[in-house]
Amino acid sequence: MISIKEVNKNFGNTRVLKDISIDIDKGEIFGLVGHSGAGKSTLLRCINGLESYNEGSILINGKEVKNLNPKEIREFRKNLGMIFQHFSLLERLTVYENIALPLKCWGYSKSKIDKKVNELLNLVDLEDKAKNRPKQLSGGQKQRVAIARALTLEPEILLCDEATSALDPKTTKSILELLKDINQKLGITIVVVTHQMEVVKEICSKVAILKGGEVQECGDTEELFLNH
Ligand code: ADP
Ligand code: ADP
Repeated sequence: MISIKEVNKNFGNTRVLKDISIDIDKGEIFGLVGHSGAGKSTLLRCINGLESYNEGSILINGKEVKNLNPKEIREFRKNLGMIFQHFSLLERLTVYENIALPLKCWGYSKSKIDKKVNELLNLVDLEDKAKNRPKQLSGGQKQRVAIARALTLEPEILLCDEATSALDPKTTKSILELLKDINQKLGITIVVVTHQMEVVKEICSKVAILKGGEVQECGDTEELFLNH
């Protein structure tokens, strides 16, 4: 589903991604792990089309990301949900309105929006918070709202950028449980970018360990950790 082949990326004269080759299959929960500066965010931004790459190829559903035309980019973005460390919710909007926003932008009818938002509120177990604003929520609840918002346009892929890094261990566990649940119920492919090895051990079936812009190791999580 995501095929990364021999990708090189430079910032000025500095090469920050070196010969990256990774294959992510449909329905997988795949971890991209490494210390700060390893190149995780840069790779993620190459995957979601926000950053170009100098050499190599990134195919998503067989299409080269850096060659998409404006019309294809629109569809491409619809197919990629994203969640972040600091949630990126709009403070002046309610939970309901935050989740509804992508659907509004795409011009869905009110009744379609209402059906979808309520379905997602149910999925992330926040039906009783629909009218609250983000500042009235805990960190875990905010991330649940962000997850619901990321799923509104029914993407095939969910990219999680340090999604549990701002959360305590107990809340982290509940968010990871929710991601597992979403992966199983909806069959969504999930890419988890994190510096937290425990997160990878908890939910990722496969993992690539990045170091200094290179893939140090890549394979089944269980096998990799047996050898460590
Ligand atoms: P990680 O997400 O693993 O912490 P990054 O992808 O953010 O790593 O960074 C990888 C390397 O690229 C680092 O050395 C960082 O300083 C460098 N880098 C990231 N973004 C830029 C940029 N816009 N311009 C120049 N160098 C950058
Ligand atoms: P409008 O969005 O044009 O103001 P609506 O009657 O659709 O009119 O909704 C008014 C507000 O009520 C919405 O913006 C939303 O915050 C809230 N709302 C609508 N439906 C629900 C719902 N099922 N659960 C919680 N809040 C809702």
